[in-house]
Amino acid sequence: MNKDIIVIGAGLTGLTTAFYAKKSGKNVLVIERDNVVGGQMRSYNIGDYIFEGGPSTGVVSNPDVAELFDYLKEDVEMDIARPSSKCRLIWKKNGFHTLPSGPKSAVTTPLFTLKDKFRILGEPWRKRGTNPNEKVGELTRRRLGKSFLDYAVDPFLSGVYAGDPMLLPTRLALPKLYNLEQEYGSFIRGSIAKAKLSKTERDKKATKQLFSAKGGFGNLIAALAKHVGKENIALSAHDPTVVPLPDGGYEVKYTDENGKSISVTTKKVVTTCGAYALPSILPFIAKEEMDKISNLVYAPVIQIGVGIKNVENHHYKAFGALFPSKEKKDVLGILFPSACFGGRAPEAGETLAFFIGGIRHPEMLDWTDEQFKTLVNDSLHSLLKYPSDVKIDEMRIFRHRYAIPQYQESSDERYATIESLQSRYPGLIIAGNLRGGIGMADRIKQGATIGNED
Ligand SMILES: Cc1cc2nc3c(=O)[nH]c(=O)nc-3n(C[C@H](O)[C@H](O)[C@H](O)COP(=O)(O)OP(=O)(O)OC[C@H]3O[C@@H](n4cnc5c(N)ncnc54)[C@H](O)[C@@H]3O)c2cc1C
Repeated sequence: MNKDIIVIGAGLTGLTTAFYAKKSGKNVLVIERDNVVGGQMRSYNIGDYIFEGGPSTGVVSNPDVAELFDYLKEDVEMDIARPSSKCRLIWKKNGFHTLPSGPKSAVTTPLFTLKDKFRILGEPWRKRGTNPNEKVGELTRRRLGKSFLDYAVDPFLSGVYAGDPMLLPTRLALPKLYNLEQEYGSFIRGSIAKAKLSKTERDKKATKQLFSAKGGFGNLIAALAKHVGKENIALSAHDPTVVPLPDGGYEVKYTDENGKSISVTTKKVVTTCGAYALPSILPFIAKEEMDKISNLVYAPVIQIGVGIKNVENHHYKAFGALFPSKEKKDVLGILFPSACFGGRAPEAGETLAFFIGGIRHPEMLDWTDEQFKTLVNDSLHSLLKYPSDVKIDEMRIFRHRYAIPQYQESSDERYATIESLQSRYPGLIIAGNLRGGIGMADRIKQGATIGNED
């Protein structure tokens, strides 16, 4: 059997790659270890609720997101979050405070100290940083002050990376922020200048809105899989290995769902699985080189979907609540998906998504279901302050050992090694969230770029 392109991994990156490759007339095969498609991205209908096992919302941060939904509009509809989702709550001492969204609220908020409020006003005149490996935490403290680090950036990085701001270099983890300082000398001046830049019609599709798919992200995955075609996706396909052929191209071997050995040849092979899976998939790469790729650190995350039947007048009208590490809570954050999107819970009910673990607490992956249930139950009353008669109706625990890659200093060497391998082995593409961004919009962009290439 011969294919134009073989994609390993049927998550968002793999399916988007396969979708565009097929759309441009290529003969595609997707090889997936699990017995379902979607990777981290799965929705579950449990009782009257829709829970996401992985991502809950993305940002339309590039045109590729809008374009993908447009191509798939017969099968899935983009769901834009309600305006109230712009509100983010931050825990300080005994309760929540709204994260400031403009200069007025930044002056009145109890989240930042008076000294740092003045510091924020002086940000445009602060000196540009010179250390390319300066961590997000160091840069924030230098430009905006310690309380801004503790009560804005630390919880933000927990929410996005499940990470620690003192471990992530800004250049690698938040390149847009890094470039604002480097190009314009200031975040504030840079943001104002960027907003004034003229945009192409295509750029305007990057609306920066928060999105999901109507009925949950599982519907986006199902739509992609439908277009790729069931016959082109090998599920429960184990132990794939790639072998370069002497005259160019590759042989890809795997064991199918019936235990039969399958061999397929191709000119182009794209890996989209995590760095930890690559040593066995690409055994022809020397250990010293592979180590530079597979040493990527991942933050584990436990996500818990919670359905509550009757919260009557206690609904939170916000995107979610975050708990700064300084506040020493067992929860990183709690999202309110039913506050953002319709159809996720019954009328008087609510869905919540608890985020737990992260780079600071990997040991929590080993907590028992009972421990998580106790934590969620306690949090409903001690953190969310629901009355004692508000109880969990449904609950599902999703454990992700390799949830979010941490783009630390080793990334430079990883990217250089990948570039070098890809030029020595034409047709081999090492993709996925080990590079190019951790969010869904990044994954769609990468898949669209690779799938549309010749
Ligand atoms: C809990 C959680 C919450 C998140 N929240 C958000 C969010 O709110 N917003 C956002 O933008 N992003 C979020 N993300 C990130 C987002 O989910 C990812 O960017 C995206 O889903 C990754 O897609 P992917 O295809 O690159 O990887 P994956 O989804 O990991 O897909 C890789 C696929 O490869 C398969 N695979 C692995 N090894 C092999 C092998 N040896 N052979 C064959 N197949 C293999 C896996 O089974 C999997 O299906 C979150 C992630 C997690 C875990």
